[in-house]
Amino acid sequence: MTELQENPGTAPTLAEVVESIDALWPFSLTEEWDRTGVVVGRMDKPVRSILVAVDPVADVVTQAIEGGFDLLITHHPLLLKGVNSVSDETAKGEMVMRLAEAGCALVCTHTNADQPEGGVSQILADILGLTEQRPLAPAKNGPDDAGIGRVGVLAEPVSLASFAQRVARSLPRVAGGVRVAGDLQAEVRTVAVCGGAGDSLFDDVRASGADVYVTSDLRHHPASEARETARGGTPFLIDTAHFASEWVWVPFAAQALKRHLASRGLSVQAAVSELVTDPWDAVFFPERGAAGAES
Ligand SMILES: [Zn+2]
Repeated sequence: MTELQENPGTAPTLAEVVESIDALWPFSLTEEWDRTGVVVGRMDKPVRSILVAVDPVADVVTQAIEGGFDLLITHHPLLLKGVNSVSDETAKGEMVMRLAEAGCALVCTHTNADQPEGGVSQILADILGLTEQRPLAPAKNGPDDAGIGRVGVLAEPVSLASFAQRVARSLPRVAGGVRVAGDLQAEVRTVAVCGGAGDSLFDDVRASGADVYVTSDLRHHPASEARETARGGTPFLIDTAHFASEWVWVPFAAQALKRHLASRGLSVQAAVSELVTDPWDAVFFPERGAAGAES
């Protein structure tokens, strides 16, 4: 985790931090099914330090509380469905109680942070070296440069294997690694990306002319059908851990928010959670020589 330093200057209130978040990743871009914004907190309380993470899970909440942070910002929502209780009898209620008792606010920036410039997929596309970027599926209620996913081109064509290695190197290390479907020797140049689960975008990926699609959470049937539809050709698939494809946004978000507050004369310390919150801990293969594992 990034270390906190002394923080001279006027600290923003939680309300002022939320205004800056809204300026960077407009809450109006939140999908209808999604829930973003303040989950826990007093709007007039000063925020001197912020921890940014992907997942509102117990280990991250502990990190925020033990680190003395005034605000935890997570990409994923804690309370997506309606709740009738935040007692400590449920895991989520326990997290709400611990945050409230410690005086640490929680704000979630989810689909509003997926779509705009400076959103999750654009940062993922930047990190993979894509230029001439455009949204994969333009936003219905946002500016022209907003939308889900990004399509762009690499400076020069590379093999699918080499590009998959670049993806693996660019993301945090997780137990499941990076999975690839397609001819490893084939050249790829046009790349579609969607941070997080992107299996609803195959039509957009095909329409984009992408040689390869980088996303997460690809299940058997959508992935198999996409490969069958491609008849062995493009778009090839690269499947990463959901946590990993979205974590790349976290350091960018911490800096962007700090800069935006500074432009308003407000000073805050912003740290990045480097805890790996991918739920999987290990992958096992059959002994050498078994089908598919070592070839
Ligand atoms: Zn996600």
